Amino acid sequence: MKHILKCEKCDEYTMQEKCSKCGSATKNPKPAKYDPTDKVGKYRRKAKEKDLRERGLI
Ligand SMILES: [Zn+2]
Repeated sequence: MKHILKCEKCDEYTMQEKCSKCGSATKNPKPAKYDPTDKVGKYRRKAKEKDLRERGLI
């Protein structure tokens, strides 16, 4: 499996060890972990729940 790397200068994701734009060494970005305090996720879960309720599934 290939790792996705990130150029912190350009904020670009790439598979290359060097950024194709600026030539900087790219870094392995920290994986996005599940965050229970994530507000977007909270709204997404609420929206999902609402959708299920409206459809009478829960
Ligand atoms: Zn770059």
